[in-house]
Amino acid sequence: MYIIMLGAPGTGKGTIGKEICKKFNLSHLATGDIFREEIKKQTELGIIADKYISKGQLVPDEITISMVESKLDKLDDVVLDGYPRTINQAECLKKYLESKGKSVTAVVNLDVPDEDLVTRTSSRIICSNKECGASFNTKFMPPKQEGICDKCGSPLIKRKDDEPETIRQRLDVYHKNTEKLIEYYVNEGLLFNINIDIYCENVKEVTTAKAVEEINKRR
Ligand code: AMP
Repeated sequence: MYIIMLGAPGTGKGTIGKEICKKFNLSHLATGDIFREEIKKQTELGIIADKYISKGQLVPDEITISMVESKLDKLDDVVLDGYPRTINQAECLKKYLESKGKSVTAVVNLDVPDEDLVTRTSSRIICSNKECGASFNTKFMPPKQEGICDKCGSPLIKRKDDEPETIRQRLDVYHKNTEKLIEYYVNEGLLFNINIDIYCENVKEVTTAKAVEEINKRR
């Protein structure tokens, strides 16, 4: 099973994607997380990726596609979070899966108004422990103890690209490139849309339940 999470930065692709993984016993492949890990380790890939990510730009396709395919070689049932982000990436994914006799099962599009996204993303904090990767929000989902991860006790940090200026840049990039993917996957008959009200209590549970229901219809 291959599930794609679509949506602008800060819509909750990571959080909802991980919940979907738990429900269907899938692996979670998040390109942003992989890039951040490579940047932390200062690998060759990380140093190149950082130049783009710190400006809110997309990492070039030739780097991203081969990186994802090498990860997918080792995985069968996956939630793809943050990939594809361009039509070219989507076409390459389709061909790659076809070569394995597989196909995309469903595309979950998380829809949140831009102004809500800037508010939510600029107050996002994440666990510094990569193994954990939990995400919190000082306004909407604060940790029990300030600055400390509820799950593993590691310090919580702000992502470098979650500054309001960079968020706006990332939203521009999203609208220019990734939005075309919505149309692409609607035409492929794979996409379903979830409108999210970030101010609703239990937003995570409500969104996960809707996603699981729709995925079940398409399995
Ligand atoms: P994310 O954690 O998904 O918001 O990704 C953080 C940043 O990593 C993005 O703003 C891009 O700079 C880069 N990135 C993540 N996924 C991709 C992708 N599929 N293609 C190109 N760049 C990506």
